[in-house]
Amino acid sequence: MIPFDFEYYRPDTAKGAVSVFAELEAKGKNPVFYGGGSELISMARVGSRSFGAVVDLKNISECTRMEDRGDYVYLGAGLTLSDLIEWNGFPLLAKTAGRIADHTMQCKITLGGNLAATIIYRETALPLLLSDAKLTFAAADGFQEYEIDRVFQERLFLPPGAFLAGVTLDKRFFSLPYFHEKKTRNEKIDYPLITAAGLKKEGALRIAFSGLAAFPFRNSKVEKILNSSLLSREKRADKVVKVLSEIIQSDLSGSAEYRKFVLKETILNILDTMEGV
Ligand SMILES: Cc1cc2nc3c(=O)[nH]c(=O)nc-3n(C[C@H](O)[C@H](O)[C@H](O)COP(=O)(O)OP(=O)(O)OC[C@H]3O[C@@H](n4cnc5c(N)ncnc54)[C@H](O)[C@@H]3O)c2cc1C
Repeated sequence: MIPFDFEYYRPDTAKGAVSVFAELEAKGKNPVFYGGGSELISMARVGSRSFGAVVDLKNISECTRMEDRGDYVYLGAGLTLSDLIEWNGFPLLAKTAGRIADHTMQCKITLGGNLAATIIYRETALPLLLSDAKLTFAAADGFQEYEIDRVFQERLFLPPGAFLAGVTLDKRFFSLPYFHEKKTRNEKIDYPLITAAGLKKEGALRIAFSGLAAFPFRNSKVEKILNSSLLSREKRADKVVKVLSEIIQSDLSGSAEYRKFVLKETILNILDTMEGV
């Protein structure tokens, strides 16, 4: 049970959503945008989050549509992980979505909710960071598109009162060789100890992580090391661990030392499988 009352709004347009959000804020209602509600509801139930109103984005066409735009594909932020898996146009995104939670939750969790989540994993950010995605924000002055690395640094940075309407992907990334390795503590379905996702573009590996640190990230130093083919694989794996050692986290799933061990194994595995492709 949610231990507090809140108002519910489901506007039909992005403009309507932004303006009702602003009105609620002005009234001190502490509104939140609502995607699939999985995180908002579970946090509200345990008392770690409260809000006076939710603005559900499900009726807004820019949030629910999937659109072919020639060389690009637009994905609304309200599409669920199941939608992305079923579409499978970008296999790395489908694979990443398919390893988040279970099937029932995948039918609820939205792309926007996962990217904007307060929970640290935000795994759908990995394929988007790797493919130079563009994010469309809806704000009082309309829609605005941003390169992902400008607005997603460890987490999504939205202007106050704005929401994520959708994501634009460049189709050239869809057919590139990719890898996705999610290591969990015990069960297959769990938050990641480490998720490593990557693409090989024009002979160079790109890699992004979740679970390793307290935020998802892509790191140019790591990519430079991985692509230093003059160094042995063992040396490259050791260097990657060293470069990241400052940010590798310890938590209930595993200590930093254990994560370093798993990271090295993961890197060796990736180099083995990706160098020949
Ligand atoms: C059992 C379970 C296992 C999970 N395992 C993983 C995992 O391994 N890896 C992983 O990455 N995630 C995992 N998740 C999902 C994750 O942690 C979030 O709970 C989920 O992604 C939130 O999605 P939602 O659409 O339900 O968001 P909501 O609960 O609706 O919202 C989450 C946050 O995002 C904001 N928000 C929602 N949509 C938008 C938008 N369009 N624009 C701006 N802000 C928005 C909300 O205001 C809120 O702050 C798991 C969740 C569950 C329930």
